Amino acid sequence: MGCFFCKGTLKNSFTNHVVNLQNCIIIIKNVPCEECTQCGETFYSDDVAEQLEEIVNKFKKMVRDVAIFDYANMVA
Ligand SMILES: [Zn+2]
Repeated sequence: MGCFFCKGTLKNSFTNHVVNLQNCIIIIKNVPCEECTQCGETFYSDDVAEQLEEIVNKFKKMVRDVAIFDYANMVA
């Protein structure tokens, strides 16, 4: 399966997931993803996307300003 946008080749990689919310910014570092070697677009597996959503939902009410998490520390 190639890149959704350009059909380029995907490789396993890590990225920083940034969520801009109304009151805060949540940054989750070192998220496993697939990265397109051609256009640089990153894609998450369903599992990872679900985890990210859970983390954001859990912390968005507690965070003010900016919060930085490490993905590996957030997923038991
Ligand atoms: Zn691409």
